[in-house]
Amino acid sequence: MPADSLKSLLTRTDLPIARIVRALSALGSATSLDLVRVAGLARSTVSMGLAELRDAGLIVEVEARQNGMGRPTVLFSLTPDSGRCAGVLLGLDEIRIAICDMAHNVLSDRSVPMARDYDPEAAFAVVRAELGADCAALGLRLSDLFGVGLAVSGPISEKGVVAVSSVLPTWSGVDLSAVFGGLGCPVHADNESHCGALAEMTWGAAIGEPDFILIKFDLGIGGAIVLDGQVRRGLNGSAAEFGHLTLDPRGALCRCGNRGCLETMAGASHLLKVAGEMSGREVGLDEFVSAAVDGHIGYRRLIEDAADIAGWGAGLVGTVLDPPLIIVAGGLAKAGELFLDRFVGSYDRHASARSATLPPERRRRFLLGRFLANDTVLGAVALVLHQQCRIA
Ligand SMILES: [Zn+2]
Repeated sequence: MPADSLKSLLTRTDLPIARIVRALSALGSATSLDLVRVAGLARSTVSMGLAELRDAGLIVEVEARQNGMGRPTVLFSLTPDSGRCAGVLLGLDEIRIAICDMAHNVLSDRSVPMARDYDPEAAFAVVRAELGADCAALGLRLSDLFGVGLAVSGPISEKGVVAVSSVLPTWSGVDLSAVFGGLGCPVHADNESHCGALAEMTWGAAIGEPDFILIKFDLGIGGAIVLDGQVRRGLNGSAAEFGHLTLDPRGALCRCGNRGCLETMAGASHLLKVAGEMSGREVGLDEFVSAAVDGHIGYRRLIEDAADIAGWGAGLVGTVLDPPLIIVAGGLAKAGELFLDRFVGSYDRHASARSATLPPERRRRFLLGRFLANDTVLGAVALVLHQQCRIA
């Protein structure tokens, strides 16, 4: 049975063929040259391994033409039926659950509403029941999954413990691997913005990009720093908390306990509060962004001002890191050019390396994230593939 063969191959770190399988798990689809590079094997070894996997029915190959022209490139991916893994977002007031196959196709994706401040045990009960039901609908048991990735809105240590943080006070110190260990398959956990970066690296705007920063503009503001293809966590798992850069030491009090954080000025929570006061009713993020794009003059101004301030904060980060690529993600990024143009202009005014002074090939690129709605849950799936299939 292919699933068993694949599962056992993933645990054999010594075999070249296992390195190829792990590289394909992480990359989704790849050319043989990608595999030579990522698996660190000779070209002949990769060719032999691919032939063996093809004969065993564990991989499929497709031909793709770049830009629809020229000679086709052959891409290899694991046979979709050879395994499944799940991603779970433990959100503020929802738990979102997705199951993907080994070719990275999303097989199920849904959200379960939760009361705010739900506790870890309640989260485990919901995930076990709902993920179990989704697995059963696909003819699987929970223990058949390669793993479950958990994305959490807060800093997480490398061992899966929620760091002591004022951002997520009720979950501080919770060992997620222990709480969710009862699922019967390997569990990995990380910060939701770090998962978002993994999703962009695996399927989206950062494929093949070893160095970039991602800034995520949702109700709060988070982010990720990726260097040499690795998401940098920092000592406490709280690297890249861009939303808590202090821009005004005498500004409004932030949920982190400091004053004048970027998030208090450009986070969607703040923008929606102002939009609500302006409209005399509660306004949701998607509605706010759509109305601004459609020309609502007050909402447009709010987004432009937020993009100016966000570009200032990002420019400070750029002065430190000088990244070649900046990905703008999150619900606010759905405003597209309306947000991005102002953001880039402001970044350029505040960062030390300015586009006008650089030759075109050395100018940094700014891209909108590919996954503005479900990056976190896909990122949790990518987390399983990256952690479980890590190449030694
Ligand atoms: Zn703060």
